[in-house]
Amino acid sequence: MNLTSMKLHRINKFIGSTSALGIAVALYFGAPNIAAYYQSQKPDAKTSISVNEYNRVPIFLFHNLDGEGRYAISRHEFRRYLELIKEEQVDVISLSELYEASKTNKRFQRPSCVITIDDDFKNIVRIAAPLLREFSYPASIFVYINNISNDPRAGTSWEDLDRLRKEGFEIQNHSYSHTMFHVPRSNESPENYYSRVTKEIITSREILEERLPGLKIYAFAYPMGYHSPSLKERLFHADYSLLLTTDASTVNLDSPFTGTFDRFTIQHLENGDYKNTFRRLLIKAKIPAENEAYPVKQLASDEQSSDS
Ligand SMILES: [Zn+2]
Repeated sequence: MNLTSMKLHRINKFIGSTSALGIAVALYFGAPNIAAYYQSQKPDAKTSISVNEYNRVPIFLFHNLDGEGRYAISRHEFRRYLELIKEEQVDVISLSELYEASKTNKRFQRPSCVITIDDDFKNIVRIAAPLLREFSYPASIFVYINNISNDPRAGTSWEDLDRLRKEGFEIQNHSYSHTMFHVPRSNESPENYYSRVTKEIITSREILEERLPGLKIYAFAYPMGYHSPSLKERLFHADYSLLLTTDASTVNLDSPFTGTFDRFTIQHLENGDYKNTFRRLLIKAKIPAENEAYPVKQLASDEQSSDS
């Protein structure tokens, strides 16, 4: 089973799981109650006192936004996802903001989520950035060196990245070549493997920081989500502070910071309505950290169901 079919299997398993579906439906139909609760607990404009704190923050990962290919979504779908975030009144915060909060287990005063985009250089400038600007949503863009081009027809250039960065989009590292390097190739010597990983995680960072002066690379997104304990160790040893997987689970600000955040891959599914899962994650982000109506135990089992 390859990674893609594993992911599909996992999503299908989740959608098909009776208990998870039950909780999802309960949460979905409970949405008006949560929304009402949320509205009633909004900070008082006069006193600016908020009684709520939110600890569950989903990170969404978008890839291809031009609607082509099995795992692409269309620009209309991307807009719809942004509209759903707005409709649910969930704030979009930057990855670095979540990282800083997570390090100190600081909860947020507002329900929040994070948007990240990997790979899709051509459409970052053409589709993602204009729509994100329209909604005033921040996003982190993970780039790999081999796909940065100075040919405007080919994709995103260094000048594009510099402009996006100065505009407030976060640019972080997604390797040099976007190949598999979580384990050595068969017959690859330890020395060759070591230098191959060095190029992917260290040389790539040096190039990014040199070509985009002032940029500090602190985060690394595993290409295709492939990770291993040894690669993780090397990344931390190389002074990365934050590693991003594609293992679907929500960041919990009450949990000790591990240096790794999981993300939910958003993609078009021919046989499934991923939008319901997306909305469910937003609704979950809106449940206050201390709320007797939605016990932590139930949420934990919900989380486990979606992770398995
Ligand atoms: Zn990628």
